[in-house]
Amino acid sequence: MAALEACTALVTGANRGLGLEMVKQLLEADCSKIFAACRDTDGPNSEVLRELAKKNPDVVTLVKLDVADPASIKESAKKVGSLLGEKGLNLLVNNAAILPQKTMLTCSVEDMHNTFNTNVIGPLFVIREYLPYLRAAVKASGKPGMSPGKAAVINISTDAASLNMIPSMKEPFPLFPYSISKVALNMLTVYTARDLKADEILCISIHPGWVRTDMGSYEATLDTRESVEGMLRVIGSLTEKDQGGYMDYTGKTMPW
Ligand code: NDP
Repeated sequence: MAALEACTALVTGANRGLGLEMVKQLLEADCSKIFAACRDTDGPNSEVLRELAKKNPDVVTLVKLDVADPASIKESAKKVGSLLGEKGLNLLVNNAAILPQKTMLTCSVEDMHNTFNTNVIGPLFVIREYLPYLRAAVKASGKPGMSPGKAAVINISTDAASLNMIPSMKEPFPLFPYSISKVALNMLTVYTARDLKADEILCISIHPGWVRTDMGSYEATLDTRESVEGMLRVIGSLTEKDQGGYMDYTGKTMPW
């Protein structure tokens, strides 16, 4: 993936599922620095990631980041900033999310709060706290226009955020808090794309497909490798024409 070669990147929720695979493939794409962020850097769920960082100490750095906790976001940004230097951050992947299996009739206030904190408010403040480093990357790049090798925010969305999905869903499909939060994430993409256009920072939402992970279930149609290969192909080919877009891992435009 030549477009991402020598890039600096940060991935949230990097300890398992799609986030972990994203770190592995960014490593294969020869990124120069990858910040693999997760909320429990010392726990059993991060063992594979810790091994990866140990084997690639010059490239992969583990960062403690709970996206549902604004203080943790701030703290992580301070640490990453001190390690980035003037090159800045080229790629920010908002991947971490939760999916409480609740319907409109069964979700609690807490389910709604937790889901919004993690899936919407988290990505918003991650973007805000890391914005100085994205701007630094634009300044350091010296390239004209917008490109993923310069600065890009990738919000991992879902087809469950597409209003088109609703008629085909068998009721009661337990995606209520999750779907609504991802619709809000898509709106966050649109605002971010508009408000950071002058900074020459790309921002898109991408649906990874239905993928075999803890969230996607092991009956899903895609493995993480295929999904992330597709997403990185799409990310690597982004231009200003894609700004604020919503697409899937094959590059197909998604209906809002
Ligand atoms: P997983 O459930 O396998 O992994 C979720 C990741 O998010 C874990 O690393 C988890 O960390 C992390 N996470 C959850 N809450 C927080 C938090 N507060 N702070 C930091 N990290 C957190 O999910 P997937 O890998 O399948 O999903 C990745 C992304 O892809 C999500 O945005 C999801 O919505 C999207 N997606 C996935 C699909 C699929 O079929 N798999 C389909 C459509 C979209 P921890 O181990 O600490 O819990």
